[in-house]
Amino acid sequence: MQEIYQALGVSPEVYGFGQQVLASLQDRFAAIDATAEYNQAKVLHAMQKCRVSGACFATSTGYGYNDLGRDTLEEVYAAAFHTEAALVRPQITCGTHALALALAANLRPGDELLSPVGAPYDTLEEVIGIRPSSGSLAEFGITYRQADLLPDGSFDYDAIRAAIGPRTKLVTIQRSKGYATRPSFSVEAIGRLIAFCKSVKPDLLCMVDNCYGEFVQRIEPSDVGADMTVGSLIKNPGGGLAAAGGYICGARECVERCARRLTAPGLGKEVGANLGQLPAMYQGFFLAPTVTAGALKGAVFAANVYERLGFACVPNAAEPRHDIIQAVTLGSPERMEAFCLGIQAAAPVDSHVTPVPWPMPGYDSDVIMAAGAFVQGSSIELSADGPIRPPYAVYFQGGLTWYHAKTGILMSLQKLYERGLVDLKGTEI
Ligand SMILES: *Cc1c(COP(=O)(O)O)cnc(C)c1O
Repeated sequence: MQEIYQALGVSPEVYGFGQQVLASLQDRFAAIDATAEYNQAKVLHAMQKCRVSGACFATSTGYGYNDLGRDTLEEVYAAAFHTEAALVRPQITCGTHALALALAANLRPGDELLSPVGAPYDTLEEVIGIRPSSGSLAEFGITYRQADLLPDGSFDYDAIRAAIGPRTKLVTIQRSKGYATRPSFSVEAIGRLIAFCKSVKPDLLCMVDNCYGEFVQRIEPSDVGADMTVGSLIKNPGGGLAAAGGYICGARECVERCARRLTAPGLGKEVGANLGQLPAMYQGFFLAPTVTAGALKGAVFAANVYERLGFACVPNAAEPRHDIIQAVTLGSPERMEAFCLGIQAAAPVDSHVTPVPWPMPGYDSDVIMAAGAFVQGSSIELSADGPIRPPYAVYFQGGLTWYHAKTGILMSLQKLYERGLVDLKGTEI
């Protein structure tokens, strides 16, 4: 085994270090496998209940009227997420688009949007208008408020109560930490937050940004009161196979408003050609529970490797997981670049290229991104990224298989080791 890893560029020292770390993780991995088994059955049951058939895989073009496969896929998502309806489309280009769509479709001029979990994901700043931007919600007279988390990362219920006013229409809750070092929330905690918000104002709509959270637990935000649960198909639920897309699962009225915003009033869900994307969308959703499990094992492995080397990890090596993201605070741009170089070198595609920081659209500092993916930008595939700003944390995620995630972590460590940026010898295991 050591020989084949050596062929990939992993030295015996790094491989040996990894194996020692792994020996302690068997119970964690067994628990991840049990969740995957449960979620596999959940998805299978949804597909059977919705009578998925060969006819669902046909390509539609043009308007896409009477697209059985598109409509059935949306029923499958609704069944798996236990919602009244779902909008699942390749025309939803990414997670940001899905979130922007859900917000723009369900807010009206004069309404206020509230984030009770602190600042939202970077790309939503321009969507909301926190950073002024053409086409933002702010330009349509939709205001925004935020209640920050308490220093320990928990909800500030007093601040949230105070922030809910007569104009508050929609509450947006981000499950995953994004590019922050706060904790990600469990579905149970999100449920408590939704219940609290609705106790203050019963007609509030609660939306959850579920990016990276799908299938990490046995329940989803839609099981604990979310009116809309939103995410990207080039993350967990696409299973690595969906070539593009996003989803919104939720209450029929909310989803219908999203459909009318995505297409046009009067058209809604009735149009939208599938352009041949459906087989991958179905098959990816079918594989998503096991793909997510592999990515989770990679995240747990990464936390255990890097924590033992003295780097702060969120979540830490022992904590339960609520998403597939692993933040590792490396403390310097040099270490971020070495880490990302290793992830890139471990990729099946573009392993020969060197990732460099660049001003990515939607982000306010340079971002370094390592990804050698079959689908561009797919972060359910092995990837690492992070904004080049203190505390110089990289966010590691994905891996279509556990073995590939493992290889990525070993290669990241290899690059740090080769450049003298970590000390394996001084480490107690
Ligand atoms: C990835 C992500 C988004 C945005 O998704 P894109 O597909 O990159 O546009 C939004 N919120 C969170 C928490 C994310 O992780």
